[in-house]
Amino acid sequence: MKHTMTILIAALALGAGAAGQPMEKSEAQIITSRMIPYPKQVAVTDGPVVKINRELAVTITLTNGVCGLEKRTSRLFKSYFGVSPALTFKTDASLVIPKDGYRFKVASDSGLAVEASDEGGVLNALKTLRQLAEPERGVEKLSCYFLPEMAVEDAPAVAFRGMHLCWFPENDEAFIEKCIRMAAYYKFNYLVLELWAVFDYKAHPEFSWAEKKVKAKTIHRLTRLAREQGLTLIPQLNLFGHAPASRHISGKHPVLDFHPEMQPLFEPDGWTWCLSNPATRRYLTEMALELYEAFERPPYFHIGCDEAYSMATCLACRKANYAALLKGHLLYLHKLFGERGTKIMMWHDMLLVAGDPRWKGYVAGGSAKIGTEALLDALPRDIAICDWQYGAAPKKDAAQWPTMQYFYEKGFPVLACPWKNAEGVRSQARLVREKGMAGMLCTTWNYMHSLDMYRMLYAGAHAAWGYEGTGWNASSAFNQHLRQVGWDMPVTRYRDTGVAQWQVPPENALLH
Ligand SMILES: [Zn+2]
Repeated sequence: MKHTMTILIAALALGAGAAGQPMEKSEAQIITSRMIPYPKQVAVTDGPVVKINRELAVTITLTNGVCGLEKRTSRLFKSYFGVSPALTFKTDASLVIPKDGYRFKVASDSGLAVEASDEGGVLNALKTLRQLAEPERGVEKLSCYFLPEMAVEDAPAVAFRGMHLCWFPENDEAFIEKCIRMAAYYKFNYLVLELWAVFDYKAHPEFSWAEKKVKAKTIHRLTRLAREQGLTLIPQLNLFGHAPASRHISGKHPVLDFHPEMQPLFEPDGWTWCLSNPATRRYLTEMALELYEAFERPPYFHIGCDEAYSMATCLACRKANYAALLKGHLLYLHKLFGERGTKIMMWHDMLLVAGDPRWKGYVAGGSAKIGTEALLDALPRDIAICDWQYGAAPKKDAAQWPTMQYFYEKGFPVLACPWKNAEGVRSQARLVREKGMAGMLCTTWNYMHSLDMYRMLYAGAHAAWGYEGTGWNASSAFNQHLRQVGWDMPVTRYRDTGVAQWQVPPENALLH
């Protein structure tokens, strides 16, 4: 269904239209511009506003009943609007609404009616309603919100709507929680959380920075609060390259900077795990399973595997059949998690040969000599390939994204992984939708702050929900949404508010 900026006047499927006239266009746009991502169909009428109070009649109709949804919806109403109106739940097996999609109608004579096929749809409807609700006027202190008379209908454009988030030693729990809540608020349904040597591993405490150890109980708390809002957390541990879980240009290594005796686990430069050493596999398995339990046995586990530039550089690895070693490593990890009912996902770059003319202009880091691409055919086709391409497509390719297509044609589930280039985000999403690829995993890295935080969330959410318009600057709506998330936590410190810890960075605080 094509999106437009038009405020649709037509009554939607929820019965007769409201009695009011269509709202004047510029006023309607003030209201509708508060929605991120922007829904497929919106109709606003100029009738009396509808107060969200105890008297509001709320009817929620689902295709099938969902266990526990009534209590959860009631809790979310209380949290979003400060009241728990009486909720009437119904089922109607004839409803045809896509997974996670919804429609609702707000009318002064009949209250709020929501329709969805599943729990995800109800949660998404509530998020949209929160963005639309306006605080009452003419009093010093708020006692209720109100909604305009309107009807909205929406459904996601891709099934896997993921965000990748890094927990750096410089980040704290409040920041991570804020990002998780924003991802959920913008209707992502998965969030890969990569812990940059900050987890409190019981088996291997030396793998994380001594001053910065996030406890398993913190991960449990975040996993549950995300789930409450329809977002599934996925752990990431780098099980091939990027072994120090640190930025390369920082020169830091959580293990080797303090424990030179641990060098045999890594290739000599410390950047890649030594795959010929059986001790490495034991060490990594113990850490991976700790994370797996902390994230409460998630449906996916991200094994990293990007940028293994120093692979096959130790004495044993450089004399081995390294492609066979790597293949064995990946198949081992696939089996380790497969036995637990969990699928693995990995970055794509080492599976393509660097310098191959087919990938000119795209990220590829593998080696023809070692044979990293040849092993692709031996990999099970349920490994999700996370293809990270950060810019816009080169013009010569007309946004065909050949690397994504290559993995797709080989039979893998492909996740497009754009970064902060808005055209790149939109263009990759278009291909995912056209081909019916698995979805998107929007990356953020060390830019999850300031204007970039807004840009990445805004572009990613719209791409995943299929909206292509850029008709307004919604950054003031974004600030409002961020503040609402802050109320939910709640934030108490200056540094936890807004999009950045400081308005002016302390000297020497930034690594450029
Ligand atoms: Zn080695």
